[in-house]
Amino acid sequence: MRIRIGSLTVNITLLSALVFYAIVCFATLVTSDAPLWARRASAPVAQVIAPSFSHCEHCGLPWKFVDEHTIWYGDDGWGYFVVCEQCWRSVSREDMMRYASKWAIKKAGDLEEFTVICGAASYQLAQRDAQQP
Ligand SMILES: [Zn+2]
Repeated sequence: MRIRIGSLTVNITLLSALVFYAIVCFATLVTSDAPLWARRASAPVAQVIAPSFSHCEHCGLPWKFVDEHTIWYGDDGWGYFVVCEQCWRSVSREDMMRYASKWAIKKAGDLEEFTVICGAASYQLAQRDAQQP
């Protein structure tokens, strides 16, 4: 269905979808606990708004809009973050280990460091799962 506003013809269905999408993006970026589908849907817009920030590997939101969950490893206080706090609560072990491995491949100097980085994620996942009812 189309309506005419002056010399402009507007498709109502498309306009409704755009308004809905804009509301989802706005609500997601101003709240701290939006559901995963809304975070993922808003990620492309959020990455355009905050191009200088890297982002959560699971939902795609830049660190400007979500808090990172840090995985601490080693004895020297090293840490890394690949998912946000919201995603950390529900990310599957398979997905988290994939994100941790991807980060470790980029950052680890050798196989031992790779193992330490991935082992820290595995250990913290076990702690997380032990705390959940
Ligand atoms: Zn996330």
